Amino acid sequence: MWSDRFNTQHLVRHDHANAQHMNAIVINLLTTTLLLSFSGLNSFAQSSYAIQNVSIITMESEAVLTGQTVIVENGIIKSISPATKSKINRKIKVIDGSGKFLIPGLFDMHTHFFQEQGEHVNTNETELKLMLANGITTARIMAGHPSFLEAKANVKDGKWIGPELSVASPQLVGKWPFPTEFKNYEMVASESQAHEAVSKFKQQGYDAIKITFMMAKPIYKAVVAAAKKEEIKVVGHVGPIVMLPSALEAKQQIEHMDMFIETLLPDTSYNHGQSVSDYNIYSKAAWETVPYLMESKIPALAKSVKDAGIFVTPTNYFFISNAGIPEADEYVRNKPDYNYIPSKLRDEKWKYRENYIKKMAPLASREKYVRIRHMMVNELWKAGVPLMAGSDAPEFFVVAGFALHDELKTMVDSGLTPYAALQTATINPATFLGMNKRTGTIAVGKEADLVLLNKNPLEDINNTRTIAGVSSGNRWLEAEALNKMLEEVKLVLGK
Ligand SMILES: [Zn+2]
Repeated sequence: MWSDRFNTQHLVRHDHANAQHMNAIVINLLTTTLLLSFSGLNSFAQSSYAIQNVSIITMESEAVLTGQTVIVENGIIKSISPATKSKINRKIKVIDGSGKFLIPGLFDMHTHFFQEQGEHVNTNETELKLMLANGITTARIMAGHPSFLEAKANVKDGKWIGPELSVASPQLVGKWPFPTEFKNYEMVASESQAHEAVSKFKQQGYDAIKITFMMAKPIYKAVVAAAKKEEIKVVGHVGPIVMLPSALEAKQQIEHMDMFIETLLPDTSYNHGQSVSDYNIYSKAAWETVPYLMESKIPALAKSVKDAGIFVTPTNYFFISNAGIPEADEYVRNKPDYNYIPSKLRDEKWKYRENYIKKMAPLASREKYVRIRHMMVNELWKAGVPLMAGSDAPEFFVVAGFALHDELKTMVDSGLTPYAALQTATINPATFLGMNKRTGTIAVGKEADLVLLNKNPLEDINNTRTIAGVSSGNRWLEAEALNKMLEEVKLVLGK
């Protein structure tokens, strides 16, 4: 969430002054020559293959189809039929799916690039490999920049290997009080500027209009109106100026459950009160409201969100594992993820965590905050609000690819079934992005965005990490290839 806007350094400086207003990876076969080079993409592209005798979790229903053979031709699922009855063309590659589980390729609906942080080095291509190796075949980049549109085009044109990208516009803000070298924002200070910005970003090829903060209500409304006219979605934060009711009325797609927790304040304090949404996890005053938050109000909150008909990306793993109960330092250092954080950024992240975030609130408040964030997700799910899994990588020690699996686990910790958690990273985002006719589930005629798992994710959601192979459109990559890819990524990012 922070990289939505600027370096954490800048936040620290600014926030001391004014915390209140800162609202944010088989199988068999002849792999050898195929795996030698990742720069010569065509040398290992497998666009036609069969996965034999596999269990399929189609995500079109909860039923697991056992003993199936999936035939992919030129990147499209050609047939799904019982292994005993399927006829496989001898010329194509055959992958033994025995004992394995096939799920649709995963979506990370809230992610960023390291380019937004620190020294603004462009490692976009490498970061996309990190996502793909972790089973992510579609990613939504939540703050816009021309280099991100280039990344999207490079993947689409087959120049780069990585997930298909949906790129939100540079974030629209009312003010930009920070010294910034990387321009991932656009100031809109009037209604006419709002209209101009929306049509410009639509024209430039961005997939949504990203809202961040400090926007006066009439300007927010102008952005919403302009986006409606241009037929482009408004997505992102909700701040204390706009507040939740107006965002729901506008049917904005909301990230981080921003301003949800404020509705749990006692009625007398809601209108002027702020709690720990978004940036306010950096405000001691906001944390002081936590003992007063009323959990009994959560079902009504969930109903109002359901009635608005919007999609919500909770990014709960990010908030819970950082602002809530920070993961132990040793745990963070020992996670494989840690090796993919540029060393130049690690020190800053540690300092920030020690000097700032750990000192915000007593344990009891943190525990209540964690409980409430889980309860909100649970009630939203029970109310029928379509949830979407988003990592908010690469914030803090949240690393692209790996963290999406943490978010899925966090969904289950909130009470979702493993199947429901998988919906948040497959069919739900595909539906939101209007891609569900071609991806998001496993069906004949759809693109072969697939993840082959060694273990059943419906038994334990952590099994989404047991990746035996990934198919992204017309490219099949087995575990060995994915591991090699990860090693290459580590050499670039972790140095
Ligand atoms: Zn973000």
